[in-house]
Amino acid sequence: MTNSWTNWSGFVAASPQQILSPDNLGGIVEAVKTALGPLRVVGAGHSFTPLAATDGTLLSLEKFEGLVSHDPAASLARIRAGTRLGPLMKLLQEIGQGLPNMGDIDRQAIGGALGTATHGSGRTLGAYHTQLEAMQFVDGQGAVRELTLAKDRDLIHATGVALGAFGILTEVTLKNVATYRLHRRKWVLPIKDMLAQFQPMMGAHRSAEFYYVPFSGHAQFIASDLSDKPVSPRPPEEDEEGLATLRKLRTVLAWAPWLRGLIIRSVMARLPAEDYVQDWLNVYASDRRTRFNEMEYHLPFEEGPKALAEIIELTEKRFPEVYFPMEVRSVAADEFWLSPFYKRPTCSIAIHHDAASNPLPFMRAAEPIFRKYGGRPHWGKMHSLTARDFAALYPRWKDAMEVRRDIDPQGRFVSPYLASLFGLA
Ligand SMILES: Cc1cc2nc3c(=O)[nH]c(=O)nc-3n(C[C@H](O)[C@H](O)[C@H](O)COP(=O)(O)OP(=O)(O)OC[C@H]3O[C@@H](n4cnc5c(N)ncnc54)[C@H](O)[C@@H]3O)c2cc1C
Repeated sequence: MTNSWTNWSGFVAASPQQILSPDNLGGIVEAVKTALGPLRVVGAGHSFTPLAATDGTLLSLEKFEGLVSHDPAASLARIRAGTRLGPLMKLLQEIGQGLPNMGDIDRQAIGGALGTATHGSGRTLGAYHTQLEAMQFVDGQGAVRELTLAKDRDLIHATGVALGAFGILTEVTLKNVATYRLHRRKWVLPIKDMLAQFQPMMGAHRSAEFYYVPFSGHAQFIASDLSDKPVSPRPPEEDEEGLATLRKLRTVLAWAPWLRGLIIRSVMARLPAEDYVQDWLNVYASDRRTRFNEMEYHLPFEEGPKALAEIIELTEKRFPEVYFPMEVRSVAADEFWLSPFYKRPTCSIAIHHDAASNPLPFMRAAEPIFRKYGGRPHWGKMHSLTARDFAALYPRWKDAMEVRRDIDPQGRFVSPYLASLFGLA
């Protein structure tokens, strides 16, 4: 009997022969040794690319979750890799620790977030994998391996971002920080001012990002800074209502972009400037109910404004159906061989397309702009790149492929999609 599986957006579908959810290490080892290949491990299925898709065995670690141990003095926590970020935040808060930064949602499994270099925003803040102090994984022959940053620096840098193709991560030790509070503010400004002040504005806060609303000429800037002030209520989220309004305006006024822009601008001008203080775990994540598909490219930081200006021009000239805001973030450089932030301070630009219609014409038109500026794609978001492109974008690509062969000599984790990424087809 085959099963059916789709990713969060519904764009990627697969029919694995079997889906396994072991709740202990022995079960994971057994699956690696005996289950029908290709064996793909899945987190929460929130990637937009077919990373987890297989017609062999889909291995879910949803029953392999929770805290294993922690070291209060060093702010370290050892976590089972199936743990979702929502429960992870709560269990860390209970032991006095916090994640230094987070992305937009808390639904991913920590193994999945590490697997694609998931990130938040902040010029000095790295993606989740930069918190790795140690990891336990099962290699392609079913052996359990333990790595620590102190002893195995190179191997951790080779395998910390690994697309589920360098073994099944079972436990990870994260270097956290003491719990903290954030002062978060949001305000609207013209996009031309935002682009002109891009460097100082993105650098002036612990975490800064902005959304550009297509056809509006305006951006919403979001800044977060450490605070020791008392907490104040986080205003109710209005993102979903906002999206519904943008969709309606798109549908009714696609023929009159100037009028559409005028109305969006007047709605944005009436948005209350948000300003509150909350504990870290109540700030980062939002509820994303409207399904979309997404492309995100990671560019050299200084190229961000030029690339964004071209993406905006493309969208407003040729793709009136687009209504989702574009998201612009910054990420600190790191040392992980397959990290899109490898040795490069980054500006990340994300574009979104309603999941109800075909995203490919928009994505295909935008991708050459991102590539012209030296962009590396988010591993979990739409792109059309293959091994030859990655070899040119990642200085340690060849070395990483050698490590992969050592860990998985028989290609247990290699699906046709992974083969195209790694040049094994
Ligand atoms: C609504 C939404 C919001 C998002 N926001 C952000 C954001 O703010 N920032 C950002 O960077 N990305 C964001 N993403 C993308 C998302 O974070 C990544 O695609 C992430 O990898 C998804 O995590 P997951 O647990 O669903 O992993 P999956 O998509 O299930 O898997 C991702 C990869 O990790 C591998 N993997 C999973 N578990 C393990 C394991 N135990 N061992 C080894 N490999 C494993 C899989 O094989 C696969 O290659 C968003 C996605 C959605 C749908």
